[in-house]
Amino acid sequence: MNKTRIKKIRETLLKKQPLVFDALDKKDQDQVFPFCEKYKAFLDQSKTEREAARQIIDAAKQKGFVDIDTVLGKTHKNIKKVYKIFQGRCVALAVLGKKLSGRGANIIASHIDSPRLDLKQNPIYEDLSMGLMKTHYYGGIRKYHWLALPLALHGTIIKSNNERVDITIGEHPSDPVFTITDLLPHLAGKTQANKNISEVFEGEKLNLVVGSLPLGGKDEKDRFKLGVLNCLFDQYGITEEDFVSAEIEAVPSEKARDVGFDRSLIGAYGQDDRVCAFTSLEAFLDSEPSEKTIMALFFDKEEIGSEGSSGAKSNFLEDFMSDLLLISGENTDNRSLRKALIHSSCLSADVNAAMDPDFKDVHEAMNAAKLGFGICITKFTGVGGKSGASDAGSEFVGKIRQIFNHNHIVWQTGELGKIDQGGGGTVAKFLAKFGMNVLDCGPSLLSMHSPFEISSKADVYMTYLGYKAFYKDND
Ligand code: MN
Ligand code: MN
Repeated sequence: MNKTRIKKIRETLLKKQPLVFDALDKKDQDQVFPFCEKYKAFLDQSKTEREAARQIIDAAKQKGFVDIDTVLGKTHKNIKKVYKIFQGRCVALAVLGKKLSGRGANIIASHIDSPRLDLKQNPIYEDLSMGLMKTHYYGGIRKYHWLALPLALHGTIIKSNNERVDITIGEHPSDPVFTITDLLPHLAGKTQANKNISEVFEGEKLNLVVGSLPLGGKDEKDRFKLGVLNCLFDQYGITEEDFVSAEIEAVPSEKARDVGFDRSLIGAYGQDDRVCAFTSLEAFLDSEPSEKTIMALFFDKEEIGSEGSSGAKSNFLEDFMSDLLLISGENTDNRSLRKALIHSSCLSADVNAAMDPDFKDVHEAMNAAKLGFGICITKFTGVGGKSGASDAGSEFVGKIRQIFNHNHIVWQTGELGKIDQGGGGTVAKFLAKFGMNVLDCGPSLLSMHSPFEISSKADVYMTYLGYKAFYKDND
């Protein structure tokens, strides 16, 4: 066979895997960095699920979306753009199309909670000459990541008189920060050398240093703890018991930063999964109204198994969907609701692990996601023999592949690590239970679940384009 023919065969038969920057035309290349400036600002304003929810609602309101609870009970032929926020921690947005129960919706579902340290309900104590606070970690963290790091406190306190106090301390340059101490290497040997990592770093040792000025003279009992409580009362009007009804999260105080001489990467806390929350929000708000309903869901509690009333296992989606049927004048009986759900298509928008140059051996190179190669399709998640996965059907994967190819989306596929290496899950299976097609789809990250996760700006932008293409599909 001659060279030209072989070249032709090569071009026709082999799967192509371009780098996003090679595939983008000049016009799109110029969009990548400005888009990511907006993303970095979103990250800095959304370090907790409540803050992310508020950012999302504010952006939607600016585009004319109305709270669905204010328009229930009547049919509003002209109201198409609605939102719902539940418990301040999970959000749904929709632009109504036609025949919701017959056609379903195009849904993109992400999560807005991230791994962090929550304050315990009785957090404040003193030891030696310091005021300290006990934390309880949330989600899958590597405990050593959180030592010797400047931390900010974000959260909500409900006082005994039911008054609500929102706090953010440690974000402004003039704010104080908090920190968890680490053992100096000089003395670490005997204590840590021959222990395994889970013994070296204990959850009960993740205690925040929060002060060191005493209240009163040296005979005063608990005077460092009292000093902290006195500051808290002066500045926020809160008492020790108020922490019982509080949700306060310690998060890295660092802002999102460009990484690399060429500024092509973003380093920031909480990119799992706020990268998908942001890109799906932007794609959703930039989509033209069409025949088919589009929806963006932003769940809480994914990092602890999608539990609770604001997680993906809850009734939130069904409730929102039935409200949508109501305001569009469709039947709201159980059958219509089930049909609206079963006819829907969903991208479970979550991140995958990018192959790490220093830890290649946990990945299987042919099926691992790589930074800079675009939005990643993850057909299944799970552990071992796909246990706990929502394995997307070939028909739906085929459909998404066609949408992406048709719209020049640079995409890749990824499995989370080698077989039997570990694994993980997403919200996909909790949406798949309604019978809708669901596929995991989002960018890949390095250092996932660390205080400084790394994304590629090209992937972030391509994820936005990919989600937009999905929303545009009218089928
Ligand atoms: Mn995630
Ligand atoms: Mn995660």
